Amino acid sequence: MRVLIADDTVLMRAMLSEQVASYGHEVILARDGQEALDRARAEPFDIAIIDWEMPRLSGLEVCWHLKADPRTAYSYLILMTSHDEPFYEFKALDAGADDFIHKPVNSAHLKARLKAGGRITGMHRQLIAQAQTDPLTGIANRRAFLERAGEETRRASRFGLPLSLLIADIDHFKRINDSRGHAAGDEALRRFVQTLNSALRPGDLIGRYGGEEFVVLLPNTTLTDATAVAERLRQRVAAQDIGADGGSFRMTASFGVAAVEPELGDSGGIDAALRIADAALYRAKAEGRNRVVPTPVP
Ligand SMILES: [Mg+2]
Repeated sequence: MRVLIADDTVLMRAMLSEQVASYGHEVILARDGQEALDRARAEPFDIAIIDWEMPRLSGLEVCWHLKADPRTAYSYLILMTSHDEPFYEFKALDAGADDFIHKPVNSAHLKARLKAGGRITGMHRQLIAQAQTDPLTGIANRRAFLERAGEETRRASRFGLPLSLLIADIDHFKRINDSRGHAAGDEALRRFVQTLNSALRPGDLIGRYGGEEFVVLLPNTTLTDATAVAERLRQRVAAQDIGADGGSFRMTASFGVAAVEPELGDSGGIDAALRIADAALYRAKAEGRNRVVPTPVP
C-alpha cells in the first residue's frame, strides 16, 4: 500500500516511516497539514496517518478536506494524537477520520490498524471497479464512460484538440439470441468488444451503452479520421467468425459517427455528439445495416 504520513516533528516522521516501510508499504511524507493535503491531492494513496497538532492546517482539518473531495473521499484516514480523552476521538471520527491512534504509537498496534485499513480500502476499490464495469465484457459501463468522456472533453477543450465519438450497434442481435441462444448472444457481445479493442489505440475509450450498443470516444481524432476508424471496425467485425455450440457464425454492425464540440461543456458536448451519432446510426440501420454513416439526417 501507499501510506501518507503527516507529522510536523522530524523524529515522529522518521520513526513512523521506518515502521511503515518495514511492513512492506511505500511511504509518502508530509511536514504539516497543508503539505499533507497537497501531496494527498497530487498522488494516489491508500491510507493516511495524520498527526492532529500541526502548523498551517490541523490533522482534523486535513481529514475534513480529504473526505469532502471526491478524489480522496474513499481513502482511509487514521488521526493521531497524544490526547486521550474520549472527546478527541469523537471529534476525529466526526471530521471524517476512519480510525484513531494514540501517541506514543505502539508498533504492533499500528501494524494491525494498517492491516484493517487495507481491508477496507481494498473493498472500496473493488466496489468502485464493479460499479464502473460492464460484467459481461469487462469494459466501462454507461455511467463510467460518460464520466471519463467528460474528462476527455475538458482536455480537448484545454488543448484545442479534435474529439470524435462513434456509436456501434450489432445488426439483428435479437436474431442471434433467438436462433442460437443467449450463450451465443453473450459470446457475440464479448467477441465484438475484443474486435473493437484490437483495432483501437490505447487512449481510445470504449463503453457499453445499451444491450448491443457500444460507444467509442476517440481523442485527438477528427470526424474524417473517426469515420475511417469506424469503417475499419466494421470490416473487422464482419470478417470475424464467432464460435458457438452448433457451428460458428458471423455478425455485422452499423456505426454512427460524430464530432464532439468541446466548447459545449464537459457533458453538453458529449450529449450533443451522442444525439448526432445516434441519428447517424439510425440512418445506417435504415439504409440496410453493416455500414458507417458519419453525418446525421438533416
Ligand atoms: Mg504535531
